[in-house]
Amino acid sequence: MPQPGALRTVLAFPSTYSVGITSLGFQVVWATLAQRADVDVRRLFTDQGDPPHRRLDLFGLSLSWELDGPVLLELLERQRIPLWSHDRGDGDPIVFGGGPVLTANPEPLAPFFDVVLLGDGELLLPAFLDALQACREAPRAERLRQLAQVPGVYVPSLYAPRYGSEGQLLGIEPTEPGIPATVAKQTWRGNTLSHSAVITPAAAWPSIHMVEVVRSCPELCRFCLASYLTLPFRTPSLDDGLIPAVEKGLAATRRLGLLGASVTQHPQFAELLGWLDQDRFEDTRVSVSSVRAATVTPELGRILAKRGSRSLTIAIESGSERMRQVVNKKLASEEIYAAARYAKEGGLTGLKLYGMVGLPTEEEADVEATAALLLALKKATPGLRLSLGVSTFVPKAHTPFQWQGVRPEADKRLKLLAKRLKPKGIELRPESYGWSVIQALISRSDRRLAPVIAAARGRHESLGGWKQAYRAVLAGEHEAAPSRTADTQLPPPPWEEVIHATWSPERVLPWQHLEGPLPPATLLKHAQEALAAGVPTAVA
Ligand code: SF4
Repeated sequence: MPQPGALRTVLAFPSTYSVGITSLGFQVVWATLAQRADVDVRRLFTDQGDPPHRRLDLFGLSLSWELDGPVLLELLERQRIPLWSHDRGDGDPIVFGGGPVLTANPEPLAPFFDVVLLGDGELLLPAFLDALQACREAPRAERLRQLAQVPGVYVPSLYAPRYGSEGQLLGIEPTEPGIPATVAKQTWRGNTLSHSAVITPAAAWPSIHMVEVVRSCPELCRFCLASYLTLPFRTPSLDDGLIPAVEKGLAATRRLGLLGASVTQHPQFAELLGWLDQDRFEDTRVSVSSVRAATVTPELGRILAKRGSRSLTIAIESGSERMRQVVNKKLASEEIYAAARYAKEGGLTGLKLYGMVGLPTEEEADVEATAALLLALKKATPGLRLSLGVSTFVPKAHTPFQWQGVRPEADKRLKLLAKRLKPKGIELRPESYGWSVIQALISRSDRRLAPVIAAARGRHESLGGWKQAYRAVLAGEHEAAPSRTADTQLPPPPWEEVIHATWSPERVLPWQHLEGPLPPATLLKHAQEALAAGVPTAVA
């Protein structure tokens, strides 16, 4: 029960209840806030919410998808909170955010947030809330100054970008003495990881109990945010971490989801499977998120089939061995064939593969190799339903491929795969090239993009809407904000240059003042090795 004077808080999710409640990240933040007596938290989704507070102290939002930025603004408007942090006064709530998108590159959304939490919530949320409680009576500007002293807490309004005469970013520096020059992402190193706090039939995966089996991934595929941004690879122990977390949920439901970037890489995963093979779990349905193809065993196929899974998901990235070397995917073609064979022998009926087009150095022959691999797999494992989900490479901050642009050839290559695979009965699930372009615009831009995001609200569900918003801001037609900072009055970052250009390693990056797990010099070394030789390097 919240105590009198508790911080009146709204935790929002930029989608419907059904989607939001299926986000383990959202659930965990909500549970952490709800457990504190000094916080009175209500939830808000785009289609429903708890009864609102009359006045708010805190408004939080977790963002895991770049394109959800405009939804944040719509949620702020619904709560009558000024959109731009500079327009908020002493009586307005502190708007805070976290999640992978904001941790990677918060800059395009920075002018809307008072506080961005960089890293793992287990550490950051308590430190942030304690610091806020200690200064809650102070004027807003002073509260923000105090919060900026907490490790991992980034207060964008206390940092200002400098641009050169040609619009190039020269640096982002503190605006006052005493504010740290850089902010480092915080890493939770405890023995437990997260699991569901809410199990509901209304979730997108009805009544599922989700357990995080691993955090990060040691494979270091050169484009992968899920690996590079969350290093080091962490695994809770079976007896003190995973089994108690699974047991807790299975007291309430018979549906279990094992989550993580690469769950089968948990060193005790085989033991966990063996434990789930017990007769007492006869009526339990177990699903796993994507697994590393090289770790698929006949046992995995058999137990998943027995526990109600119909298919297995593996990411191959490309059918070309050369491309897999370039991206550091340590996976031989034989291992892909073996994974399909084991899945079928175990009793699974489908195999979902994930790949990418438009990767750096990719040629049309590499895409043909992907089509050829799928066709050969179909021949080698008749009766196994194959599907290929394929996306366009999008550069992400804090990864070795952050300097690479989106390649326009990707659009044609998605079509090439469709031409080769569809007539042969292989299901192709391509992600739209156009949306990948918008994603790249957001993932590599700086604060000058904020007015575009503001102008996109109400029309962000169509590609044309984003393009119109960009053109409107370029033409100076964006809405006025009373105390808009200088950088948000500049033209937006140049479209072609941000989305498609290969950037020089000397370039000042919009996220340069925010420290990820690996220093830029290491990322550059990984990038150079990948592009020069295509030879995998040792795990960091
Ligand atoms: S194996 Fe998957 S999760 Fe791991 S680094 Fe590669 S793409 Fe990322």
